Amino acid sequence: MSILVLGGAGYIGSHMVDRLVENGTNTVVVDNLVTGHRAAINPKAKFYQGDVRDKAFLNQVFDQENIEAVVHFAAFSVVPESMAKPLKYFDNNTGGMITLLEVMQAHDVKQIVFSSTAATYGTPKQIPIKETDPQLPINPYGASKLMMEQIMHWADVAYGVKFVALRYFNVAGAKPDGSIGEDHGPETHLVPIILQVAQGKRDELKIFGNDYQTPDGTNVRDYVHVVDLADAHILALKYLAAGHESNAFNLGSSTGFSNQQMLTAAREVTGEPIPATLTARRPGDPDSLVAASDKARDILGWHPQYDDVKEIIKTAWTWTQKHPNGYDDRD
Ligand code: NAD
Ligand code: UDP
Repeated sequence: MSILVLGGAGYIGSHMVDRLVENGTNTVVVDNLVTGHRAAINPKAKFYQGDVRDKAFLNQVFDQENIEAVVHFAAFSVVPESMAKPLKYFDNNTGGMITLLEVMQAHDVKQIVFSSTAATYGTPKQIPIKETDPQLPINPYGASKLMMEQIMHWADVAYGVKFVALRYFNVAGAKPDGSIGEDHGPETHLVPIILQVAQGKRDELKIFGNDYQTPDGTNVRDYVHVVDLADAHILALKYLAAGHESNAFNLGSSTGFSNQQMLTAAREVTGEPIPATLTARRPGDPDSLVAASDKARDILGWHPQYDDVKEIIKTAWTWTQKHPNGYDDRD
């Protein structure tokens, strides 16, 4: 039996594939490489290049492989782009989920672990955010992911497809040996952008606003290491294999760090000055997003190894130094 990883050539998916392979699990990857990288996929995994929305293609993969469960990372995830091109997001993300569940249903595959997001909560009324808090997304990306959660819920009611929705907060870091890491194009995330400045590839970090309701005025976010995140998916697969009911879990560290604190930490880790300037707020940024993650700890038995943002940044810095041009030198 194999685990099918959709989006396994992407940042988080490639770390998941790597963890599965290291655990000796037969791993099959589907990815259309729209944002992912062939070189990011552990060579011991079997790779099919194609689109999740291509039903004939996906049926073939399920015909050929003995799939036990699916882990679904394949999606677009850039919030400002989703504001400008909402249909692109509903087509790829939400549409992809419908095709996937149809194919799973046809092949009697009943377990799925899904990449959801803090963006499904929108602007939280309280911090830390609990799984039971209202999900009121404020952008099409978050809405597309909430719809995917809802579609899985109704597929469970009708067909008994069991799912775990993992709502990630801010994912950062890289495999500690620096062999795989984060390489989005264009890059929009704070940690890799800060490190691009440290590398000299950008002139400065632009801090988006310092008049938020937070201790130093910059946004507060909750950073989780990508390898800890991958481990939570493995626990979620075990949870489903044990026959438990569908469920949703936040994945964060339960500790918030401001953008200014992240910059200071990165300066300490890299020893580089990392120039920064203050610019206008980025639309759609809530003041603070911090997860209550005790549910994943209590029910899944998740014990994240990285509780220090400097350690998280250090692993991303190792990747950046080993691969100054990301996967470009290997694709
Ligand atoms: P990524 O863009 O690096 O990875 C996504 C992968 O899916 C890519 O390899 C891409 O080529 C593939 N893909 C996209 N659409 C596809 C399709 N239709 N068919 C086949 N393959 C397709 O993104 P990431 O940062 O690794 O994020 C992975 C998942 O985690 C996404 O679903 C995202 O919404 C979610 N997420 C990410 C973060 C974060 O901080 N990076 C936070 C919350 C949630
Ligand atoms: N941010 C910033 N400058 C950048 C990129 C990000 O100030 O060049 C801020 C952003 O406004 C947010 C935080 O960094 O407050 C984290 O942003 P990211 O896009 O990494 O993740 P998000 O919290 O949006 O999922």
